[in-house]
Amino acid sequence: MTLARVDSLSFAYPDGPPALRDVSLELRDGEIVALLGPSGSGKSTLLRALAGLVPHFHGGRFSGRVVVDGADTRAARPAELAGTVATVFQDPEDQVVMSIVENEVAFGLENLGAPPETIWPRAGAALAAVGVAGLRARRTAEISGGELQRVCLASALALEPRLLLLDEPTSQLDAGGAEAFLAAIAAAGCAVVLSEQRVGRALDAADRVLYLEEGRLLLDAPVGEARAWL
Ligand code: ADP
Ligand code: ADP
Repeated sequence: MTLARVDSLSFAYPDGPPALRDVSLELRDGEIVALLGPSGSGKSTLLRALAGLVPHFHGGRFSGRVVVDGADTRAARPAELAGTVATVFQDPEDQVVMSIVENEVAFGLENLGAPPETIWPRAGAALAAVGVAGLRARRTAEISGGELQRVCLASALALEPRLLLLDEPTSQLDAGGAEAFLAAIAAAGCAVVLSEQRVGRALDAADRVLYLEEGRLLLDAPVGEARAWL
């Protein structure tokens, strides 16, 4: 089933050149999509658009349409998407506001109004799913960048989103960590869009590949076809 639709989306930040140019695509329930392209090609901006953050939080010139789970993101407030979409953007430090790992994972669920008896089991299960259950009582300031990336993923998974948006999520993980991370994503069963600057491990986990260059979507293909093209 179609989960999200982007129709002829063009977007420029205030006073900036176009960051996205006439991008159209569809996301289906449960599929894993690798979003590739060089630095500055518009990957983060496309993720922000799918999260409903563009144009709400960034201003700028927006044309076209983004519909997620039936809601037009231009009309809906980003908070209305909170039950559907979870995001892990770059620099996990920016997102971590609580001092203890387990509280951090529970925080998003609390915001969604989940009752305590479901919050703690779900937070614990999400930490276990990404292999960092042992960190639950640690302070976020004391764990490594890679551990923090996994805690951020756990926070997003605990929300049980239908759409998970990940901006270069494995950048601070070693090979084993990245593999575990990608396995946790595949097991989650939700639709995932994950960006990566270089063609890397994400491709092994992906069903489909999107490739952006200078804001244009140059490729939208199943992973097998994309490998030959890249
Ligand atoms: P990315 O890997 O997403 O391209 P960048 O290193 O380009 O990240 O950007 C880092 C931060 O600076 C991001 O929060 C991004 O939104 C912001 N940023 C990037 N380019 C500009 C710009 N031209 N003007 C203002 N902020 C920018
Ligand atoms: P990528 O994620 O592929 O590196 P981005 O979406 O971050 O690309 O950037 C696309 C374009 O938008 C770049 O020209 C970048 O400088 C610009 N840009 C990104 N974030 C901002 C921002 N917050 N303010 C202004 N310009 C930005």
